Amino acid sequence: MNAIIDWHAVAGNLRPDGRALINGQRRAARSGAVFSSISPVDGRVLAEVARCEQADVEDAVAAARTAFEDRRWRGLAPAQRKRIMIRFADLLQQHGDELALTETLDMGKPIKYSRALDVNSAANCIRWYGEAVDKVYDEIAPTPNTALALITREPVGVVGVIVPWNYPMIMAAWKIAPALAVGNSVVLKPSEKSPLTALRMADLALEAGIPEGVFNVVTGYGAEAGSPLALHMDVDCIAFTGSTRVGKQIHVMAGQSNLKRAWTELGGKSPNIVFADCPDLDRAVEAAVGSIFFNQGESCNAPSRLFVEAGIKEKFLEKALALVPGYAPGNPLDPATVMGAIVDQTQMNTVLRYIESGRSEGARLIAGGEQARVDSGGCYVEPTIFDGVNNDMKIAREEIFGPVLSVLSFTDAADVVRQANASVYGLHAAVWTRDINKAHGVARALRAGTVHVNQYDEDDITVPFGGFKQSGVGRDKSLHAFDKYQEVKTTWIRIDSPV
Ligand code: NAD
Repeated sequence: MNAIIDWHAVAGNLRPDGRALINGQRRAARSGAVFSSISPVDGRVLAEVARCEQADVEDAVAAARTAFEDRRWRGLAPAQRKRIMIRFADLLQQHGDELALTETLDMGKPIKYSRALDVNSAANCIRWYGEAVDKVYDEIAPTPNTALALITREPVGVVGVIVPWNYPMIMAAWKIAPALAVGNSVVLKPSEKSPLTALRMADLALEAGIPEGVFNVVTGYGAEAGSPLALHMDVDCIAFTGSTRVGKQIHVMAGQSNLKRAWTELGGKSPNIVFADCPDLDRAVEAAVGSIFFNQGESCNAPSRLFVEAGIKEKFLEKALALVPGYAPGNPLDPATVMGAIVDQTQMNTVLRYIESGRSEGARLIAGGEQARVDSGGCYVEPTIFDGVNNDMKIAREEIFGPVLSVLSFTDAADVVRQANASVYGLHAAVWTRDINKAHGVARALRAGTVHVNQYDEDDITVPFGGFKQSGVGRDKSLHAFDKYQEVKTTWIRIDSPV
């Protein structure tokens, strides 16, 4: 990374191409319709984006199907696909400045993170699945000697991918990387709130050598472009990340159409549990505050419910409040900014409404609570903390997806496990204690796809990511993700042995 880039100056010259990418070509929607991509940083119009709908989805799925049937991609040896995937990852990193700037302008996250984290994490994911694909073996079953039973995995076919706006490149990479690596064709529908980096990713995939028609991007709104994809009779699998509300519709659409495989990574309201015997209170405070305000609180796994054991709560909150000024929203293009803009006006208003509901339901506002940087023309909310929250309040039950922390209290392990599990979600959770028995016991009792012990920020492409309960079905990342994009086939071969 070039440390002396003047991002404000470069931003003025950025001209993102908002046309869809279908069958290897950038093109407008068939209707010619567009919508404006507006930056939450300062309200500037970044690009006019193709407003795709049914007809464009038909084109993209047809291109993906043709590419799948003629085997131009899945027919390559795994080692050949690996080389191309690695070239794709390298190109993402070579274009890292442009991609990071586009991501920051499109969805409002600080350039510091889009450059160091989002670009590298997406590239690493593509590279990891590329490298993995020529190292996984199929199986032979332990059958009698009279037969040989091969258990092989085959690409499922045409994979529809629908992603949200909070980590546009990373969310796309988590799905397209394993799907492409094993030989599928993909039609990706990015969020209408942040569509621009997905289009550039697809340009770079083509440049790397992924054949035309294998990786298509249709831009547009959920109801107009997403739902024709989820309902399509020639799409074999739909991989969705987004809200639980839309995730439920995705499963219905899969059932209503061709019973396509449906995988959903959905919302969260993750509990972060701090016992009085926490081994390092300062570290726990930093993690609690840093993790809820990271990405403006727009992270599915943000620890948005903080449970602090009654005896240490006052001390904990005093330390937490001392850190809050460090998260004051700044211009995302300034390299020092750690909290940027909320993705758009609609989401900002949602967050402000939740803050209002916290106030009116009787929670105690101890930090923030207001819109910030109003004169910027962008969308900013102060880092906000409510104390005195109980599990019946909306701000404890519903996903806010903004920089709002709800603080609750508890008396013992049984009490906190009951409160923590009293949620429709089950994505992440954390427990802080120096007692190994308590750590293991509580971690086992928590109904969540990932449990952190004495930290919150460990993450790696090698581990599965996904939820229990209404946080979704299936897992992204790790070798487990390959299972979502492959069919398992059994082939019986009779052996008439001469010996
Ligand atoms: P969303 O559900 O509103 O939209 C997600 C995607 O679905 C977008 O591309 C949207 O255009 C599309 N969509 C909307 N309506 C549709 C329809 N009827 N048919 C088909 N597609 C449709 O979610 P969002 O606001 O973009 O993202 C925030 C949500 O994503 C949060 O709930 C967050 O927790 C979740 N999320 C989950 C994970 C995870 O791994 N579990 C990761 C990131 C975000």
